[in-house]
Amino acid sequence: TTVCTTSASDNSFIKKLKASGRSLVVFYGSQTGTGEEFAGRLAKEGIRYRLKGMVADPEECDMEELLQLKDIDNSLAVFCLATYGEGDPTDNAMEFYEWITSGDVDLTGLNYAVFGLGNKTYEHYNKVAIYVDKRLEELGANRVFELGLGDDDANIEDDFITWKDRFWPAVCDHFGIEGGGEEVLIRQYRLLEQPEVQPDRIYTGEIARLHSIQNQRPPFDAKNPFLAPIKVNRELHKGGGRSCMHIELSIDGSKMRYDAGDHVAMFPVNDKSLVEKLGQLCKADLDTVFSLINTDTDSSKKHPFPCPTTYRTALTHYLEITAIPRTHILKELAEYCTDEKEKELLRSMASISPEGKEKYQSWIQDACRNIVHILEDIKSCRPPIDHVCELLPRLQPRYYSISSSAKLHPTDVHVTAVLVEYKTPTGRINKGVATTYLKNKQPQGSEEVKVPVFIRKSQFRLPTKPETPIIMVGPGTGLAPFRGFIQERQFLRDEGKTVGESILYFGCRKRSEDYIYESELEEWVKKGTLNLKAAFSRDQGKKVYVQHLLEQDADLIWNVIGENKGHFYICGDAKNMAVDVRNILVKILSTKGNMSEADAVQYIKKMEAQKRYSADVWS
Ligand code: FAD
Ligand code: NAP
Repeated sequence: TTVCTTSASDNSFIKKLKASGRSLVVFYGSQTGTGEEFAGRLAKEGIRYRLKGMVADPEECDMEELLQLKDIDNSLAVFCLATYGEGDPTDNAMEFYEWITSGDVDLTGLNYAVFGLGNKTYEHYNKVAIYVDKRLEELGANRVFELGLGDDDANIEDDFITWKDRFWPAVCDHFGIEGGGEEVLIRQYRLLEQPEVQPDRIYTGEIARLHSIQNQRPPFDAKNPFLAPIKVNRELHKGGGRSCMHIELSIDGSKMRYDAGDHVAMFPVNDKSLVEKLGQLCKADLDTVFSLINTDTDSSKKHPFPCPTTYRTALTHYLEITAIPRTHILKELAEYCTDEKEKELLRSMASISPEGKEKYQSWIQDACRNIVHILEDIKSCRPPIDHVCELLPRLQPRYYSISSSAKLHPTDVHVTAVLVEYKTPTGRINKGVATTYLKNKQPQGSEEVKVPVFIRKSQFRLPTKPETPIIMVGPGTGLAPFRGFIQERQFLRDEGKTVGESILYFGCRKRSEDYIYESELEEWVKKGTLNLKAAFSRDQGKKVYVQHLLEQDADLIWNVIGENKGHFYICGDAKNMAVDVRNILVKILSTKGNMSEADAVQYIKKMEAQKRYSADVWS
């Protein structure tokens, strides 16, 4: 095994900047890789304006050195910061966020700009970037260009390139830099083919440590997932043509623990036939052993993914091959078109012209074309596979709300996942990476079928006191964490404890088709543990949703949260359901609690601060 040693100077970004003659540092707060990708693109583009740039992870930097950045000529710090969950910074930006929040440093002379990554369907849209942008100014720093906000619900790529297009002229203006140079497409990584490498030195899908698949060793986390055997994988739907899986993973012997409300993260692999197809389209030998090596030797990231490996492994385990490509990928692909018309199409879609943006929206986004579809349809574009591997984003783990209670199942984690599969406007069938992977993972006989997982703690928690009444709103897969909550409350009752009222608002299309966990829910009702309210949206002429039932039950809701200090939980679809439910709650609070609408909104904010209102939603 190799031991990593960190010397004191490793976290000095100032030293790195000085040693390599750079003046631009782009920090990122990234949870799924987009913030990091945007930071990389900005740092790379700096060269056009004679601002040599470097990407930096705040977690690996001594951020107090921001005080010294002004000592470097023409220096500029850019922050690409994502807002995550309930308005939180990403894990890697947490420490920086706390420092800047609490510290009282003087940042006079620091030049900065901030671009935020957020999603408008969530309550705290871009909270982190908005705060950091304002806070840096309060601390005396000099904002070189206005805050940019990206909305992942609409088109974050568009927001970013539009912001960037005005950002660079403002930067040039600020530093007195005359005219940008020609746009040059430079590779960030160089290819090294390594046929001579010993087979046991080749990565075969490990997330970080070589041989971590064969040699499982705790502690297990995002860099070192546990290979959890699948004990159960069964269908929950009884009809309707969709599929929802109930999966039981064993975490026995892993030393991993969880609480009801936590998430399990899973590393999926891409579909074999899609990998083969991409290999063919790029005319690649997928068994070639290679490394991609960062041409920036100062970067802490030597390789884009574990290397040496084979193209097959990279495309299967490390790269997001079904994601909708961003514009910079199209720009680079254009260079490989031999047909001028096709080259122009790709270039235009990567441009910020209104026609180009429209084309990108319709031809790429609305048509759900991934890299394979693009290469199928743009026939003269045949990029080398190593460049494709450089351009594609890293394959991300998928999160699932754990649908069991550790009190009842200490060594098992249950997952409730709906299969993603849809037909695109070009007539193709797109399949979700993780859910398709899971669908095919059926335990058979004595042979163990395993998936790499880790557990991520959440803030979504039952009240500390079991007597506290709760209201849970979870239609569809939104039921997942509540199944864990109810299991836990049943367990406590079985132990003789007094448990407060537990009211669940569940919704699905049809009672006879997608009423998941029907018998379990009805059993809990029978035992008096659960007060169940179900909305079957398609069982009658008019749609009935959970929020309609909530509205009918206004007195009950006010009784629980207004008069008995109960907790309120929402889980599931962020885009429509969670917003509608929150609005109904505002309505109920203002009517029953005799409040203005503004006061009702404040009331919910206060509940949030007291951890009496929590949402676990995704889009
Ligand atoms: P992907 O390959 O990631 O594809 C999904 C993408 O395909 C979507 O983002 C969308 O861009 C696109 N897409 C999907 N449907 C369509 C369509 N009809 N038309 C056009 N484009 C479409 N999921 C659960 O099932 N159960 C849970 O308990 C659960 N809990 C979650 C908790 C958290 C905190 C988060 C963040 C997510 C949770 N999810 C849950 C969602 C889950 O993480 C995955 O996003 C989901 O399973 C899809 O993953 P996939 O790899 O199969 O699909
Ligand atoms: P679902 O079966 O699609 O929906 C559950 C119930 O909610 C249905 O009865 C549905 O009614 C109803 N509903 C629809 N709109 C609503 C609204 N605005 N307010 C309240 N109820 C509403 O649920 P699911 O399959 O578990 O998925 C839930 C949502 O999570 C999906 O809609 C999707 O947005 C999201 N999701 C995303 C992914 C992903 O790939 N990123 C994966 C899984 C889930 P009708 O259908 O009859 O209108």
